[in-house]
Amino acid sequence: MHRYHNPAVETMDRDDLDALIDERVRYTARYAAEHSPFYRHWFRENGVEPGDIRVHEDLLRLPIVSGRTIREHQPPGTTDFEFLSAGWDAVFTIQETSGTSGTPKSFFLTWDDWKRYAEKYARSFVSQGFGAEDRTVVCASYGMNVGANTMTLAAQRLGMTIIPFGKCDFASRVLTSYRPTAIVGSVFKLLRLARRLEKEGIHPEDTSIRRLIAGGESFADESRKYLSEVWGCPVYNTYGSTEGTMCGECTELSGLHVPEDLVHLDIYDPQLKAFVPDGGCGRAVLTTLLPEGGKAGTLLINYDTEDTTAVLSREQCACGRTHMRIINPQREAETFWILGSPVNRVDIEAGVFQPGNLDHVTGEYESFITPGASPDEVALHVTMECPDPEKADTRSISERFTEHFLQVKRGLVPMYEEKKFTLHFAFVSVAGLELQKVRGRPKRLVDRRPPA
Ligand SMILES: [Zn+2]
Repeated sequence: MHRYHNPAVETMDRDDLDALIDERVRYTARYAAEHSPFYRHWFRENGVEPGDIRVHEDLLRLPIVSGRTIREHQPPGTTDFEFLSAGWDAVFTIQETSGTSGTPKSFFLTWDDWKRYAEKYARSFVSQGFGAEDRTVVCASYGMNVGANTMTLAAQRLGMTIIPFGKCDFASRVLTSYRPTAIVGSVFKLLRLARRLEKEGIHPEDTSIRRLIAGGESFADESRKYLSEVWGCPVYNTYGSTEGTMCGECTELSGLHVPEDLVHLDIYDPQLKAFVPDGGCGRAVLTTLLPEGGKAGTLLINYDTEDTTAVLSREQCACGRTHMRIINPQREAETFWILGSPVNRVDIEAGVFQPGNLDHVTGEYESFITPGASPDEVALHVTMECPDPEKADTRSISERFTEHFLQVKRGLVPMYEEKKFTLHFAFVSVAGLELQKVRGRPKRLVDRRPPA
């Protein structure tokens, strides 16, 4: 028996859903032209009438905006926040997204926005089997990002209990005394927590935890599988951002459902000129969809997430939901080109977490792309953390990594055979990785080739 948070919408027929999307595209375009200085200018300067935007394909006529566009249209670049699309009296909170460089992007949320964000998360929670009986430790940060606060609001709707630690460094007594049923965190935080518990003599699979939610960054299926084994429970993926995505895997674990009535996701080719057909990989570009009469504090149309993904299916899922499913998105910024092949951090992670490897390594890793011995050669260096590097079967680990890596990166096989592409492995003891000495979000794949 499947449960839904909003059955009428979540199981809506494809035709009705598409009609609802187009209706909301029309209202959203009109709202943008009326309330957002950025879009008001754009429509005027480009001679496009908001009424010309009738169906979602018409979004191709509107510009693609990026994080950079937002930054360029807010102070100090401009006097006003040109993406602000509601009066100050309607703005409930101001959020910021941590940019890697420069001024953070500002996001204004009305209470309407918060309710829609919570609705998306509530659907996701229910699709993962959560209910009023659940007690969830949230290890995502309650800062200027919306994630943790959104989950907390969603929990209120479901009657769930939230334990808002914000970090994964809580004492083990939290598990033994409150007996939580779930933890939300990143794959690596949840792995580290499991190791810490083991040291204290607590086996993660014997705790009250029945499911984990991993989010915040993309991960390899291999690392999810391992995390699931360590905790003895399913691990569900969520993909969310302050810009308004918020997609989640249901218990079928067959892609992330996109709440299509609230956010429209298009997959674009690398030039950001045309849609990629379903199944093809491309850039995830999102548009906030406003219901008739709705208000948005920051309206984004065609926002380039700088993440890549593919539509898995628009057919009804085994869970009964009709909303489309996408594959786990990857960060474009974590993709580097090696001799004509794109290599993402997740490809490295998949090699590290090959079955058998985790008997010897902790899963913590870092990798570097460097020039090889001659100008047309490239080397990939992978360093893995080991509880006991002396005793680890490093040869088998390296072989398993190499075999899997070349299987998924077929384009590199000829270069590997000609030794133009080389793989190098190093094993360090616990806390011996370079990234463990750096503060902030660790970079696990770094390109150290000199700029061309
Ligand atoms: Zn489903």
